[in-house]
Amino acid sequence: MTNVTIVTGGSRGIGAATARRLAAAGHHIAIGYHHDHHAAKAVLADIHATGRRGIAVPADTRDPDQVQQLFDAAADLGPLTGLVNNAGITSPIGPFTDLRVDDLRRVVDVNLIGYVLCAQQAARRMTRGGAIVNISSAAATLGSPGEYIHYAAVKAATDTLTIGLAKELAPRGIRVNAVAPGIIRTDIHAVSGVPDRADSAAGRIPLGRAGEPDEIAATIAFLLGPDASYTTGAVVRIAGGL
Ligand code: NAP
Repeated sequence: MTNVTIVTGGSRGIGAATARRLAAAGHHIAIGYHHDHHAAKAVLADIHATGRRGIAVPADTRDPDQVQQLFDAAADLGPLTGLVNNAGITSPIGPFTDLRVDDLRRVVDVNLIGYVLCAQQAARRMTRGGAIVNISSAAATLGSPGEYIHYAAVKAATDTLTIGLAKELAPRGIRVNAVAPGIIRTDIHAVSGVPDRADSAAGRIPLGRAGEPDEIAATIAFLLGPDASYTTGAVVRIAGGL
């Protein structure tokens, strides 16, 4: 039976690298994305080039109806076996006292409520077992002082979500793990107002450089696969020593 995996935020960054790697490893892939149709189309073309089936569905993960539509569309590929809960955002970097409530709510809505809604759909549909990987962040344990403490706090919630779901879903053969990247070279840093963050932060990373999306995708693929058959409830940090 071929794996059928949904990757939210699969149009760009870590999600795009993951979708491409999983397709190359034999998964049929449904990518969800927000509004970048052009980027989603490019990832979809690469999925199809591997000979696997793929679809790209615009679905705002904050909205339960759109999440349901994404999972319904993915059902055309076959029974769901995997979810990569990845669609995430930051907000402008700055002191805690300057945090605007609408930025706070957006970060909670996408990074926590979106993850819960997607995990719930996956848990309902994975009737023959499966695997979920939640994308957390090294920020969950670093706290991100002076940058975005609210984002770090929500990523800590992702780790707790992972531990609880792993325990609740284990009897049904569903494994749940998290990956906690450090600073990875993607567009996310432009949204936080520091587009060159991958390079400017290199000096404080023990390995001396930012990570690349495919270095995260490799571990996500491992956690979804048979070599991780006894791994559940783990938070795997991939942060160059941060
Ligand atoms: P990115 O390059 O900015 O890509 C974000 C992806 O999420 C895009 O595909 C975007 O879709 C999608 N997205 C954003 N809001 C959405 C929404 N409301 N509904 C559905 N999709 C939405 O981000 P990234 O750096 O790859 O980050 C991926 C995950 O890794 C996030 O959870 C992030 O917190 C985490 N992470 C990243 C880093 C890092 O340094 N990059 C470090 C630690 C953790 P569109 O293309 O349509 O906009």
